[in-house]
Amino acid sequence: MVTPWPEPAHDEGWFASLPKVCLHDHLDGALRPTTVIELAAEIGHELPSHEPAGLEQWFAEAADSGSLARYLETFEHTVAVMQSVSALERVAREYVLDSATDGVIHGEVRWAPEQHLGSDLNLDTAIQAVDRGLRAGEAEAADRGRRISIRQIICAMRQNDRSLQVAEAAVRNRDRGVVGFDLAGPEAGFPASEHRAALEHCAQNFLPVTVHAGEADGLASMQQALFDGRALRIGHGVRIAEDLSPREPRGTLGENVSRLPRRRDLSPPPATAVYALGPLASWVRDRRIPLELCPCSNLQTDAAPSLDAIGRDYPAGERPRAKKYSDHPFELLRELGFAVTVNPDNRLMSRTSMTHEFMELAGVFGYDREDFLALTVTAAEATFLSAGDRDDLIERVMAGYSDAPVVGS
Ligand SMILES: [Zn+2]
Repeated sequence: MVTPWPEPAHDEGWFASLPKVCLHDHLDGALRPTTVIELAAEIGHELPSHEPAGLEQWFAEAADSGSLARYLETFEHTVAVMQSVSALERVAREYVLDSATDGVIHGEVRWAPEQHLGSDLNLDTAIQAVDRGLRAGEAEAADRGRRISIRQIICAMRQNDRSLQVAEAAVRNRDRGVVGFDLAGPEAGFPASEHRAALEHCAQNFLPVTVHAGEADGLASMQQALFDGRALRIGHGVRIAEDLSPREPRGTLGENVSRLPRRRDLSPPPATAVYALGPLASWVRDRRIPLELCPCSNLQTDAAPSLDAIGRDYPAGERPRAKKYSDHPFELLRELGFAVTVNPDNRLMSRTSMTHEFMELAGVFGYDREDFLALTVTAAEATFLSAGDRDDLIERVMAGYSDAPVVGS
């Protein structure tokens, strides 16, 4: 049990001071606008705006436009300026410092080196450049009194055909900060099963796998991630909520949910307590397979089914999507006992951070310090660290939540 302390004003400083574990964040989605501008100037890359506030605004608007083409265009710019050893080192170093400011004490940042093979880079030198940047950032944060560790998850792009090479590079660089492998990129039409060789290579070499699934595609994609990919976590997985159905009669607790802990401050019990889980949802919940939920990002990309629409039948493609945070099934999934974690996905494009997501969860669902502690312990348990390192991390999380956070630190 955590000893209670007087809750300070829940301002941004308080939320930022809470220790956090970040499992799903893209390096190429997390650049500082000033860095994009400076790196672009070095290589003569044309940007939509060369002024930081204007560029930040452009990224946010493009990501929020509802147009996938515009959303993807944002990454063309960030990826374009990350094509050299020095650029990768800089972006990685700054990523660590920004994460430390965000309260992150351990993170597993992902990126796809196959998209960064500029003139002086190959898969290995790219991974090693990012590793050097991460280590430099960790050392700099430590000098400023912040202990943070950031490891790499190496993504292969689903639409490309070099996932085996990428997986081999990930395995080769395990002693250089690589802790896992991921499939990213367009989900629909590019099933995990097309990357069996890569996933098999990870399995044979005991490299943990997480797979983007249940974001742009539905239940079948998640099932493939779990059984073709042997994924230990699911990247997003928010569409697992489409495998819920209401028990009859509405308003009674079904056997699947009757023993789940209720949120203490929800009265009367929410109608959501009556959902039954389909076979895939049951598997994911009962095996405690962590879901790397990214609410702000999910709202932008229409990934999350709207809370009101869960458990109802809709023709394919017509299920209403969550448009605001309160429509996101985050709390429903948590309440049903899923191992949910909260993540930023793309800090720049989604104009978010771990701190921002925490603030939204507090404002919309009433999460308090104990809720954030529980979420963070779940995330720490889901990291791809060794058991001993996970235990250390959990201890640090517990210690961080036991100390009264210093507001504004
Ligand atoms: Zn992602």
